[in-house]
Amino acid sequence: MPSTAVVWFRRDLRLHDHPALIFALERFERVVPLYVLDNTLLNGRWASPNRTWFLRQALAALDSELRSRGSRLAVIRGDPRSAAVAFAGEVEATAILATRDHGPYGRSRDAAVTAAAEAHGVSFQAGRGQLVHEPEEVRRDDGGPYTVFSPFHRRWQALPIRSVLDAPDAIATPPDLPSASSHQVHDLLGDAEPTADRALLLEPGEPAARARLAAWAASDALRQYDTGRDRLAIDGTSRLSQDLRWGTLSPAEVVDRCAGSGTGPARFRSEIAWRDFYAHLVAREPRVRHESYRREFDAIEWQTNETLIEAWRDGRTGYPIVDAAMRQLLATGWMHNRARMIVASFLTKHLLVDWRVGERHFMEHLVDGDPASNNGGWQWAASTGTDPQPYFRIFNPTLQGRRHDPDGNYVRRWVPELAGIPGGDVHEPPPGAYLAQIVDHGLARARSLEAYGTASAARNRGTSD
Ligand code: FAD
Repeated sequence: MPSTAVVWFRRDLRLHDHPALIFALERFERVVPLYVLDNTLLNGRWASPNRTWFLRQALAALDSELRSRGSRLAVIRGDPRSAAVAFAGEVEATAILATRDHGPYGRSRDAAVTAAAEAHGVSFQAGRGQLVHEPEEVRRDDGGPYTVFSPFHRRWQALPIRSVLDAPDAIATPPDLPSASSHQVHDLLGDAEPTADRALLLEPGEPAARARLAAWAASDALRQYDTGRDRLAIDGTSRLSQDLRWGTLSPAEVVDRCAGSGTGPARFRSEIAWRDFYAHLVAREPRVRHESYRREFDAIEWQTNETLIEAWRDGRTGYPIVDAAMRQLLATGWMHNRARMIVASFLTKHLLVDWRVGERHFMEHLVDGDPASNNGGWQWAASTGTDPQPYFRIFNPTLQGRRHDPDGNYVRRWVPELAGIPGGDVHEPPPGAYLAQIVDHGLARARSLEAYGTASAARNRGTSD
């Protein structure tokens, strides 16, 4: 009987730089690639038609890449805690190999898989590949975790990165897989229509992701990233976030390919470090998924006016830069980072709405929606996170628009009602030319300072008493 291993794909839908796959090919005669469709992820707290669509296409692309190497992807639906082990039994595999997941859900799932596998005499191993550095590797000298990004980044940068692995040329997979796994991906995922405009979504799958990475690594935009990354109307960022989210690119390879000297590439790599920073944080403090990292701010009496929240979601706040960004999200399933910071600040500071409301809306629409990075971004903007924007620094949306969209092209692209207003004046349309502002900047700012200031002072009193 030839030795057989299952390689279980999760957030690593690629063949390049896939340590678990290479490990399996080196040690086993036959390898069976598997994906388990998990109802808890597809229909649970963070369900998103845009991401389900992306997943379906990325799985189809993975299957096609595997077929060109003599293999194919088995796709089954079920409870992954038992389904992967049962599948291993059916294909007579003695091992299941995977890329390590750091999120609380993934870790508790994998703990259950380890127990189920042991009970069935199968080994289960999950190794590196989802982050550049593992949580236990980026530690202070005293062994503790970093809570501030700058020292984290210094240590992160100093650590060696493993060598990037080539994709295998051939994968020997038995031809007779169980019939339950012979369904086409679309049989199991239905039509999975996105809510975003199909024409504006980036192409999913590893080949498209690799083409994006190659173009980005060779671009002037990478070299000018430190200045271009904040310009809303230009292609100044990599647009690789969905590829990192789904693992159609490995972060180690992205860093390796963008290793050039200069401030642009260095700044770009530091953004990949933020991704690790937030993943490490959630792995170590799962509570931040539900509560503010700085607990004192959970004492704020958040506003719940649905009409105002709806206006924010739909891009009808009367602030052109906020409305452009929110409409970009609905139309494309993506939003520029600077715009994410502006709209998150607006919701939490100007409308004084709980950051969890915004976090949920983003997770519903973002193709790159990642529980750790999204939570980190929201808690940063809401000033409730670890190493956040200080609460007394409140973005003025009009000035942010003028600074980061000086020609007004971003606003005119997403808010066609304003197409007739030239240049940067689009950020301050004349009275009657656009929707009335749903809150006054000065009043909202004062209210926010009061609410955050009170919560912060209560904490300081509490600790000094
Ligand atoms: P680039 O600027 O080219 O950056 C390269 C990569 O670095 C990104 O693809 C991403 O993987 C990583 N990265 C960049 N900035 C950050 C950051 N601040 N935190 C963590 N990783 C970062 N990013 C997500 O991937 N998923 C999310 O759900 C998400 N939600 C966010 C919510 C808010 C409120 C904010 C302020 C930021 C959020 N981000 C999130 C971070 C950032 O906005 C996106 O990663 C970025 O806009 C994606 O575009 P890009 O690939 O062109 O980025």
